[in-house]
Amino acid sequence: MAERGLLIVLSGPSGVGKGTVRKAIFEQPNNDFEYSISMTTRKQREGEIDGVDYFFRTKEEFEELIASGGLLEYAEYVGNYYGTPLAYVDQTLASGRDVFLEIEVQGALQVREKMPEGIFIFLTPPGLKELKTRIIGRGTDAMAVIERRMEKAIEEINLMQHYDYAVENDRVENAVSKIRNIIECEHLKVSRV
Ligand code: 5GP
Repeated sequence: MAERGLLIVLSGPSGVGKGTVRKAIFEQPNNDFEYSISMTTRKQREGEIDGVDYFFRTKEEFEELIASGGLLEYAEYVGNYYGTPLAYVDQTLASGRDVFLEIEVQGALQVREKMPEGIFIFLTPPGLKELKTRIIGRGTDAMAVIERRMEKAIEEINLMQHYDYAVENDRVENAVSKIRNIIECEHLKVSRV
């Protein structure tokens, strides 16, 4: 039987650039891990593809999956559900392949409870002020939403202690290279070779 793959969880506060870093990681050649596509009830944005960026589902469909235990974790975030389908993660890890999750912190803490052997990486902003500028710079959110995201971000930074690694997202390419190094080192652990 193949050795179980590694579960890699990238998380961090809203607006820190998790999505950008994750996309940059998956654009690199010779990646040896699989991305777990999340499910969400939020509206599909321009350019997003169902089944590629997310599985876009109704609230009812999502709640059915919660009830049947089909999600590894889920969270309600700014009025929408986001969650990780369990079957894909389980099957991929069992086949010996690594799985990469990019999720917000409430979900990451649930995964920590269920799969403590995972590698938990917290992406940190260079500073809170910069975080605010980045969130506003995105230009798609109303002021009330920005304030809510800020409050949430401060709470999330306090949660960093539950993670194995903290990677500062000063520049995307630096963060990407640090995350790849972490994964490489985890594979070299004596307990895994
Ligand atoms: P967005 O709506 O901008 O795509 O994502 C909003 C937030 O949801 C981001 O912080 C993203 O990391 C998080 N997210 C995406 N997929 C999941 C998931 O499956 N579970 C959880 N808990 N959060 C997710």
